[in-house]
Amino acid sequence: MEQYEGKSIFKGTAIGRILFYSKGQQQVKREKIDDAEAEIKRYEEAKGKAIEQLGALYDKALAEVGEANAAIFEVHQMMLDDDDYNDSIYNIIRNDGVNAEFAVATTGDNFARMFADMDDEYFKARSADVKDISERVIGVLSGKNMDGELGDEPVIIVAEDLAPSETVQMDKTKLLAFVTRLGSSNSHTAILARTMNIPALIGVDIKEEWDGKMAIVDGKEGLFFVDPDADTLESYFAKRKEEEEARELLSQLKGQPDETKDGKHIHLYANIGSVADVANVLANDAAGIGLFRSEFLYLEKDDYPTEEEQFQVYKTVAQNMAGRKVVIRTLDIGADKQVDYFNMEHEDNPAMGYRAIRICLDRVEIFKTQLRALYRASAFGTISIMFPMIISVDEVRKIKKICEEVRAELDDNGITYGEVELGIMIETPAAVMISDLLANEVDFFSIGTNDLTQYTLAIDRQNPKLDNIYDSHHPAVLRMIEQVIKNGHAGGCWVGICGELGADVTLTEQFIKMGIDELSVSPTFVLPVRKAIRESSSN
Ligand code: PEP
Ligand code: MG
Repeated sequence: MEQYEGKSIFKGTAIGRILFYSKGQQQVKREKIDDAEAEIKRYEEAKGKAIEQLGALYDKALAEVGEANAAIFEVHQMMLDDDDYNDSIYNIIRNDGVNAEFAVATTGDNFARMFADMDDEYFKARSADVKDISERVIGVLSGKNMDGELGDEPVIIVAEDLAPSETVQMDKTKLLAFVTRLGSSNSHTAILARTMNIPALIGVDIKEEWDGKMAIVDGKEGLFFVDPDADTLESYFAKRKEEEEARELLSQLKGQPDETKDGKHIHLYANIGSVADVANVLANDAAGIGLFRSEFLYLEKDDYPTEEEQFQVYKTVAQNMAGRKVVIRTLDIGADKQVDYFNMEHEDNPAMGYRAIRICLDRVEIFKTQLRALYRASAFGTISIMFPMIISVDEVRKIKKICEEVRAELDDNGITYGEVELGIMIETPAAVMISDLLANEVDFFSIGTNDLTQYTLAIDRQNPKLDNIYDSHHPAVLRMIEQVIKNGHAGGCWVGICGELGADVTLTEQFIKMGIDELSVSPTFVLPVRKAIRESSSN
């Protein structure tokens, strides 16, 4: 038995034979041609066919993995129509008098290298895409179809790298897992693997001689076993069975609308703390992200994350969510989330201390850096900004003024940004009691039941001794939720819950009857809550 380590892209267990997949790099010969215009016409026809093939792949992906993931094939279609890409091909054909295959291969290589050299992770990942489209056109020009077939037996695909078009066109019933040497966790192939619920590892030092051998992919621990022994096989068979049972139950709810029996739609979103969590959001079919706890970005670092670092993270999340709503909460540091480099003084009662929006309104440069990154990222998706620990109208007005200043600075610098909704967390009793006034200031409310329970019941949420009386079902908390929904609606706000209580399926129907518009829960709770929504009535 051989054991290897890789980076996990999607967890899960796969056991089966290895298919060493190589798309057989197409050998392109440089040939002299006499009639450049005729060669360009040949290229144009091949390009048209390639665009048609991509349209068919888009339809297939749309049906199998949803619009957000199918979108890559539209991007490929657009890339094929890109002026710079096409001009380069025309120039090579005309100036060098060479065949279209050679011009496309040269252009593809040049563009791929250019993308690979970029700092931006998103553009780096586009390097594989431009290679992919070029090989497709070369395939059409040389009469080969790159849409390969797998055999009858389901297999673990081991490959140097995989392009999104290769991933999506493989027959899913024959696919157990992907193991590649190259690839990035940001690539669309990785996203597709996650969405298809297929365990996947990258960074494994693959060998062609493995072709046909038995193997195990442990996507959770990032392990890959070739020729596993009997004991290892047995324990992984048991693991796989457990996973299959759990998945079977949940998968029946994917793609089903988040609608009550009487047809009321609820926005069912997921909570995340990092870019990596987006995979879980997609895998669990949430309609958006209702809470991105941005402070984890700060907690992971030894120093303040720069505007550029934050921008890259927010942009990646927005792009991966492909237009679906992403609510990002500004820094909520303090209390249990302490960061050394903030140099905060010791406090006797940090939960009620210098934290969250209080720090941001005091150390405005930190706040503005984050807001600039958020607004810049908003040009790449649907971003809403949410502010934590609000207790007064005055705070909200100050925040709005700072947002205005940030937007004005971006305007002055010619930097574009999207339409951004501004909302607040309702997690203090003060915010509940003035929610009628706050509703006039913002676009939405998201109720943070974790803190709301702690402040309403005067119970430190961190204190294990009080765990048994920390009761989010307390009528005081439930009445507050009802009041917030009522006041929010009267003031034209949509109202959601992003605290843990939102995932409590024993209350789902009650929240819906109160008029809740959105529930944002941990990704693994999305499908159980969907089930509860679908079993509820709204009145
Ligand atoms: C809450 O307080 O309910 C909430 C969602 O925020 P956090 O748990 O991060 O404080
Ligand atoms: Mg909170």
